[in-house]
Amino acid sequence: MNRRDGGRFRTACMDIEYGQSDCQIGIKDMEKNIVRQISEKLRESVPGNVLCEDMGIRREHVGKRMYDPPLVGFGSAGDPLFEAYKKPGVIGPWHMSPKEWLSDAETVVSFFFPTNREVRESNRTARRHASDLWAYARIEGQAYIAAFMEAVACWFRENGFDACVPSSDPRWQKMFAGKGITGYPEITDASFGSRWSERHAAYVCGLGTFGLSKGLITKKGMAGRFGSVLVSAVFEPDPRPYTGIYDYCIRCGACAARCPVHAIDMTSGKDHTKCMECLNASGKVLAPRYGCGLCQTGVPCEDRIPRRTEQPDEVRDRA
Ligand code: SF4
Ligand code: SF4
Repeated sequence: MNRRDGGRFRTACMDIEYGQSDCQIGIKDMEKNIVRQISEKLRESVPGNVLCEDMGIRREHVGKRMYDPPLVGFGSAGDPLFEAYKKPGVIGPWHMSPKEWLSDAETVVSFFFPTNREVRESNRTARRHASDLWAYARIEGQAYIAAFMEAVACWFRENGFDACVPSSDPRWQKMFAGKGITGYPEITDASFGSRWSERHAAYVCGLGTFGLSKGLITKKGMAGRFGSVLVSAVFEPDPRPYTGIYDYCIRCGACAARCPVHAIDMTSGKDHTKCMECLNASGKVLAPRYGCGLCQTGVPCEDRIPRRTEQPDEVRDRA
């Protein structure tokens, strides 16, 4: 980054003021704080996080907020983990590195939007498929997060940097049961994934570690959604306060017990095919939406890093 003073940032669609630098913190931290300030402003100014009648939802949910303020993490675009992700059995060779998305990428900025408490609570009592609120957050909420990510990229571009949002890039592809991405002999009917994994990017950026259910457990828990932007600006990577990919998972099995189709196994982990079939079935009930997320709610890692001594029932009993 090269802008160190507070000031005002304008684009065609927004007008944002951000604060003066703080002499008590290092330049590198200050620059990351500017991005955090901008993110906070954008979170408020980008429309779509509050449910409205135009979305075709149940009237009683109008005015409810889907996502809380995001966690923001910074990682190096050259982190060797991105090459490791290409290995078969990790993600696969179809996963694109930051520099394949953006040739002059220097930094990955990852965001985790925790699901709002009311949405989480509504899903805790769900047994077969997502609650209405959870499904809104899955579909309309994802549209809001996509718009937010584009606004962040827009801010970087207006300030003289290159930026790319992989999830909205035309090269982005998703693979279900071996379909959607072609050209790799490693692909089988059991292959699931995409050209860019938000959870794996968040792991690099210090935001959290994986759970048995394959979600990422952050300090605000697992219930939420991720987004990321790749930028040519240089930021100091955030430290990763963990060493193992499952460090925050206490292997309590609550997610396996919550799964309506027994897609999570304590030994073999998550069966993506069963999960996909469950999500497809939910579309018949929740149309035009779909969703589940039962393994992310009513579990000890729902909204925080679980304590090692925690029992699965504790979180369900919490008010
Ligand atoms: S519910 Fe328990 S086993 Fe499942 S991901 Fe969370 S901490 Fe791990
Ligand atoms: S693994 Fe899939 S089907 Fe099972 S609870 Fe999680 S989202 Fe639902």
